[in-house]
Amino acid sequence: MEIFRTVRLLRAWSRAAHKEEKIVGLVPTMGALHAGHASLIRAARSRCDLVAVSIFVNPTQFGPSEDYARYPRTFDADCAMAQAEGADVIFAPSVEEMYPDGATTFVDVEDLSNRLDGQSRPGHFRGVATVVTKLFVTAEADFAFFGQKDAAQVSVLRRMTADLRLSTEIVVCPIVREADGLALSSRNVYLSAQQRRQALALSRALGVVESLAGRGRRDREELIEAARAVLGAEPEVRVDYLALVDWATLLPVETAARGALFAVAAWVGETRLIDNTILS
Ligand code: AMP
Repeated sequence: MEIFRTVRLLRAWSRAAHKEEKIVGLVPTMGALHAGHASLIRAARSRCDLVAVSIFVNPTQFGPSEDYARYPRTFDADCAMAQAEGADVIFAPSVEEMYPDGATTFVDVEDLSNRLDGQSRPGHFRGVATVVTKLFVTAEADFAFFGQKDAAQVSVLRRMTADLRLSTEIVVCPIVREADGLALSSRNVYLSAQQRRQALALSRALGVVESLAGRGRRDREELIEAARAVLGAEPEVRVDYLALVDWATLLPVETAARGALFAVAAWVGETRLIDNTILS
């Protein structure tokens, strides 16, 4: 497995691969890799001839009071995991490589970027859209793999690739969970043992929503209130948002039709966690 630090090297690798008619896959990450990331690498492996995993903690998607400085960085372990899952290349650029001195160009997916996480984290999706555009035009990948875990991010990036007519196709992979239901996240390491237990309220709330919807109870307010009751039972859990939306537009829907996105964001102590389910 090769480790590239520059845009020039990754682009040259991808172009050489395409000359040999290979299918190139890209898995964008911020590192601190876990089984959720591993599932994306495996999905890429099964669909593509060559797989690049990017590891870049993108400063522009963090707000001023967020955890950019203390975000977990575990580069050596990440390389070992990526290699074990069959990655061919790690792309690990510096901040200066991705944002050349004086850079003032950003990608703004209007409206969508202000919904759900975008509403709670102003500027977040502008940073995400900008860095993913840079990764797409650098890697020139045929497919890029993202987790449903970040469902609003998927909507923003789908809109972006359609609007900019980018040639990388987005593939969305299911949420990987711990045995007890907690969605894997690099931020779970911030949780104390007690907070970790309380964080289970997120997946539990989604389970209640799924079971109500399965019994035909599909009214938005009823589903949101049922989820709020589950989260409200945990003293350290503070709801950021509960939403039933159309997955493409992220706008609220009145009833939970098949394919609707039910999403939750909540603070557990100082840690903000997200989770969601696509209703069947
Ligand atoms: P991150 O490193 O947190 O920026 O995440 C990189 C990619 O991994 C994103 O596409 C995430 O949606 C995806 N991801 C994170 N956690 C999970 C999970 N538990 N299951 C599946 N994909 C995930």
